[in-house]
Amino acid sequence: MLPSDLTTLFDDHQPHTLLTPGPTPIHPDATRAFLRPMLGHMDREVFALNRAIQTDLQTMYGTAEGAFTALLAGTGSLGMEAGFANLVERGDEVLVCANGSFGRRMAEMAARYGARVRLVTAPLGEAIDPQEVAAHLDGVQMVAVVHGETSTGVLNPVPAIAELVRHSGALLTVDAVTTAGMEPFHAEAWGVDYAYTGAQKCLSAPPGLAPIMVSERAFSRFSARRTQTPSWYTDFEGLRAYWSDHTYHHTVPVNLHFAFHAALRAALTEGLEARALRVRRMGQAIFAALSPLGFSHYVKREADRLPTVLALRLPEGLDDAGLRSRLRDRNISITGGLGPTAGLIWRLGLMGEAARPQPYRIFLGALEDLLG
Ligand code: PLP
Repeated sequence: MLPSDLTTLFDDHQPHTLLTPGPTPIHPDATRAFLRPMLGHMDREVFALNRAIQTDLQTMYGTAEGAFTALLAGTGSLGMEAGFANLVERGDEVLVCANGSFGRRMAEMAARYGARVRLVTAPLGEAIDPQEVAAHLDGVQMVAVVHGETSTGVLNPVPAIAELVRHSGALLTVDAVTTAGMEPFHAEAWGVDYAYTGAQKCLSAPPGLAPIMVSERAFSRFSARRTQTPSWYTDFEGLRAYWSDHTYHHTVPVNLHFAFHAALRAALTEGLEARALRVRRMGQAIFAALSPLGFSHYVKREADRLPTVLALRLPEGLDDAGLRSRLRDRNISITGGLGPTAGLIWRLGLMGEAARPQPYRIFLGALEDLLG
């Protein structure tokens, strides 16, 4: 017998209002697809499904047909790691734009794979200045930037950075974890060589998959490596063997593929532009409801604001942790700041199925009630 509190934990499936900046509520189509009868990872139906996922990912990332897309069996961080593992060799110069926690994670990973890391930074809550990138490009093999810095709610100017990197010969790696599938992303037109996200973010699929995109140029750079990649699991050649040549590499999580495919289909059926518009409308409506209570934008410049993560400075005297805990008692989850912004901001998720009026009505109603 389980102790009674654990019984409650496992049996009591209360509806939950999940408004964190990831994971997001799972799309109902994905929940249904997840429950399909299991198939083997080498089954012909799974290969057909994988092919459909690859094509849809090309649409989501805005790539050319020659770009390689696939799912890694892990979260967004594995997508990040795979880029450095495959595209960096010991001693390479890698310029990392680091204006928040995830930019710093990129820098740490690049260093672990032997890169000599140069940092371009910006004050917290501000976007990277593309001219700063331009000033440090000399001799660089890769530039890495987080498109949407979840930790602060900042949108970095990837198109402007890409325009500068394009002429330097360096590869461009973009963390698209809070953007791809919800915000405009045009890998081919911008000149992005490697991008990744996490299934649980803008697509509202279960966590555990990292959709990646590798440009033809990046794949050629990988094929010309002087040494093998130190990562067996994410080796692009092994992934291509499975995804393109249907050769066994590792057992992919087939039921997650089912769910992911359904969620990605739903996103593309809604349309990427419609989704971007939905996020903006939701963000404006939520801000209009919260600003009379004393909340203000943490990111000062409007152009620097990431639409999918609304970062709000808390009103003076608000009991951050206490209030979030009382919201959680009512089955509502939101997220506070991270590191230096802890206690200073709230981060409201507007990715995928979180960006809907109904859950925000529940949250705003409860907040009003608690602030009394
Ligand atoms: N990059 C960004 C911008 C993120 O927001 C996150 C997670 O929140 C990650 C990377 C890491 O993703 P995961 O937690 O899925 O490993």
